[in-house]
Amino acid sequence: MKKEIKAYNNILELVGNTPLVKLNKVTKGFQGNFYAKVEAFNPGHSAKDRIALHIIEEAERKGILTEGSTIIETTSGNTGFSIAMASIIKGYDCILAVSSKSSKDKIDMLRSMGAKVYVCPAHVSADDPRSYYEVAKRLHKETKGSIYINQYFNKLNIEAHYKSTGPEIWEQTGGRITHLVACSGTGGTISGTARFLKEQNPDVKVIGVDAFGSVLKKYHETGKLDEKEIYPYRIEGLGKNLIPGATDFEIIDEYIKVTDADSAHAAREVSRTEGMFVGYTSGAAMQALKQLNEAGEFDGNSIVVVVFPDHGSRYMSKIYNDQWMEDQGFMNTISVEETQEIQF
Ligand code: PMP
Repeated sequence: MKKEIKAYNNILELVGNTPLVKLNKVTKGFQGNFYAKVEAFNPGHSAKDRIALHIIEEAERKGILTEGSTIIETTSGNTGFSIAMASIIKGYDCILAVSSKSSKDKIDMLRSMGAKVYVCPAHVSADDPRSYYEVAKRLHKETKGSIYINQYFNKLNIEAHYKSTGPEIWEQTGGRITHLVACSGTGGTISGTARFLKEQNPDVKVIGVDAFGSVLKKYHETGKLDEKEIYPYRIEGLGKNLIPGATDFEIIDEYIKVTDADSAHAAREVSRTEGMFVGYTSGAAMQALKQLNEAGEFDGNSIVVVVFPDHGSRYMSKIYNDQWMEDQGFMNTISVEETQEIQF
């Protein structure tokens, strides 16, 4: 009898079911137990594989996407990569409008995956015709038979995490999770995951990570978009200059803001201490854990899950490049521990 071939039918079958990995050294001296949901284990190396696949397959089920259709999206890179990957397997064309803030590595990577990429200026308002939102909308209108994923306002973004990330974390923690800490960009990850977890246990505390220069934290607290909160910042994929319809603000207990410099150093620290090569927003999430721990948020019984959204390889020309760190002025903010290392 022939032996069975143990293979996946295609790369998309590997989306989801990412591991939960204990944080050991980077959380030394913290109160509580800390686990990272390592989304870089998705085949597209980020959590965005989940939403790309879910939204595309829902559109297929509804008959909106048919052979030869074009998929259009605005993206800081990760969603684009995931859509491009799914488009290859499923036979669609992929057009992406990205912010000029995105790293060159990310843009090159999207083009390598067959996507047509439009690079749009980062520091214009969302309703400016040059913004990546407006460019995507225009391309959608101009391209016959196209769909616009619109991750910032698409409720299926939340649903993707409600159906996958949430149940996985609940199962992996044996239902013992006490805190979820996750970055908030479109808000899909935190909203969908939190909705599932709070349905199982309303006491799970949900903390969103936001950037200085973004409106999310203030909006959560006041219900108003404060334009004064908006200024350029470096972290890609976290925070926003508008209120995303894919964020369920009700389900988030609180937001915490982190700086560009602290987040960059925290990402480098996770890589060096845990051997997990993580992206910039994973550093932001790690920095949030540090601030929360310092503020006394956790105790010995806390079981904290932090979502690490993507892989460090996407940031080689940024946070993992000493010259870039130097140019941002981030090297002036290095910790005492690192300073001692350098003197030695
Ligand atoms: N980290 C990275 C690297 C991202 O690209 C994004 C998505 N913009 C996020 C975090 C935030 O995830 P979400 O959009 O689900 O809030």
